[in-house]
Amino acid sequence: MAFELPKLPYAYDALEPNIDARTMEIHHTKHHNGYTTKLNDAIKGTDLEGKGIEDILSNLDMSNMAVRNNGGGYYNHCLFWEVMSPNGGGAPSGALASAINDAFGSFDAFKEKFAAAAAGQFGSGWAWLCVHKGGKVDICATPNQDNPIMPGIGCGGHPILGLDVWEHAYYLNYQNRRPDYITSFFNVINWDKVSENYEAGK
Ligand code: MN
Repeated sequence: MAFELPKLPYAYDALEPNIDARTMEIHHTKHHNGYTTKLNDAIKGTDLEGKGIEDILSNLDMSNMAVRNNGGGYYNHCLFWEVMSPNGGGAPSGALASAINDAFGSFDAFKEKFAAAAAGQFGSGWAWLCVHKGGKVDICATPNQDNPIMPGIGCGGHPILGLDVWEHAYYLNYQNRRPDYITSFFNVINWDKVSENYEAGK
């Protein structure tokens, strides 16, 4: 079965004023839709057809640029929509909060390090909070549509939170002010979902 563009779990304007409706609509219907279509085209008739996306990416031949770029784009955006919510913001609780404190010292220190990774990614890419087997969390950034579950990419953990820092994710509203977009992202993080991802991935 071909991959399908997932529906957003909220309306395009639901994350305003942090992320504007026009950006969300273009990002979902044009960019994410494009990655989905091109991923399906790239795997059609190959031995990757019918496999799950995590299986495809974690065993990827990194020289297969069509699947690397579009499979990454498909997967990364699926995660991105889910870790945001109009009821988001605040701070994590429970086991994830403990893991963040253990790794970074405090939630504020985590925010600072995550924001620096996102701001410091040169050009297009993503910042990630990842979990390793055993429950340790780690931050990394990757270029383009690469993802830490791909062989040899990022910190090698499993991403539980991702921030898209491609200009298409923020330019209409923030222009070149990526740090302002990063600050706003913290207002919409769905920590319940990130905790769920943490429990599933640890
Ligand atoms: Mn994007």
